[in-house]
Amino acid sequence: MIYDIVIIGAGTAGLSAGIYGVRAGKKVLILEEKYYGGQIINTPHIANYPGIKNISGFEFATNLYEQAIELGVEIQYEKVIKIEDNNKIKKVITEENSYDCKSIIIATGAKNRKLGVENEEKFTGAGVSYCATCDGAFFRGKDVAVVGGGNTALEDAGFLAEYCNKVYLIHRREEFRGEEKLVNILKEKSNVEFILNSTVSAIEGSDIVEGITVKNVISNEIRRIDVNGIFIAIGQAPDNTIFSEIINLDEKGYVIADETCKTNLEGIFTAGDCRTKKIRQLTTAASDGSVAALAACEWCGTN
Ligand code: NDP
Repeated sequence: MIYDIVIIGAGTAGLSAGIYGVRAGKKVLILEEKYYGGQIINTPHIANYPGIKNISGFEFATNLYEQAIELGVEIQYEKVIKIEDNNKIKKVITEENSYDCKSIIIATGAKNRKLGVENEEKFTGAGVSYCATCDGAFFRGKDVAVVGGGNTALEDAGFLAEYCNKVYLIHRREEFRGEEKLVNILKEKSNVEFILNSTVSAIEGSDIVEGITVKNVISNEIRRIDVNGIFIAIGQAPDNTIFSEIINLDEKGYVIADETCKTNLEGIFTAGDCRTKKIRQLTTAASDGSVAALAACEWCGTN
C-alpha cells in the first residue's frame, strides 16, 4: 500500500498537517515515537491561540489528536530511523516497519535543551526535571529552582509557586525573554525569588537533588541553595540527524525551509519547530502544518 502523505511527528504541526491532508481526500499516516501532542502538552495554560480564550496544553493536544483521528488520519507509534527518496515513491523506515508514500512531511519539533552541568543526567527523574506540569506535584511543599528566562520558565515558576514552599527563578541575564505580563505575575508572588545574571554551575546530592550552586556572572559570587528539585526550561533544540544525509539542515540542525515548507527534495516538506524560522509558536506550528499538507497534496496530484 502507498500512502499519499506520511507525516513524521504528532505534535501540533504534524496533527494539523494530518487534518488538512485527509480533508483533501488523501491517505495520511502519522508516525510518532512517543505520544501525541508534542511540546504543547506540557503547557499548563494557553491563552494566546486565536479563537480559544483559555485551554490547557493537554486539552488542546487531545482535541487536536481526536479531530485528526475522527477525520481519518492513521497513526502508528513507531520510531522513524531513516527516510529514502526514490523521487516519486519515497520510503519511511521505522524500527519495526517500512512505509511507501508519495510525500513526506517532517514535523519532528524540538527537544528540551540540557544545561550541561555535572549530575544533570544522573539526577534526571530524581530531582532534575524538564516538565513542571508533569513533575510539579511531586514537589508539593518543597523548595525548587527553575532555570531559564523564556515563557516556559516563567510559566513553570508560576505553576510551581502554587505547589511549592519556595521557587527560585534563575536566569542568566537581567532582562527576561518571556512576556512582561508573566514576569509581573511572578513579582507579586511572595514565594518566588528572582536570581538574575546567574547560572547554575553544579547540581548536588547523594541519591536525589539536595541543592545547587549558582554563580553570579557579573560579581562572580557563588551561592549554594538547598532545593529538592530543579526544573530546566532553557528552550529546545531540533533532532533531525536521521534526515541529514539527504535533507539540508542549518548549522543548528533545523530543516532548511521557508514559508512554503519545501525542503531541498521535491515531495518532502517540513512543518513546525523543526524547520528554520524566526517565530516558533503554537500558531506558527499549526499554520505550517496546513501549508505543508496543502503543498504535499499538490505534489501528490501532479506526480
Ligand atoms: P526560549 O528560547 O524562549 O527561552 C529560553 C530561555 O533559556 C532564554 O531565556 C535563554 O536565555 C535561556 N537559556 C538558553 N540556554 C541557556 C543555558 N545554557 N543556560 C541558561 N539559560 C539558558 O524557550 P521557551 O521554552 O521558554 O519558549 C519557546 C517558545 O515557546 C517561545 O517562542 C515562547 O514564547 C513559546 N511559549 C509560549 C507559551 C505560551 O504562549 N503560553 C508557553 C511557553 C512557551 P537568554 O534569554 O539569555 O537567551
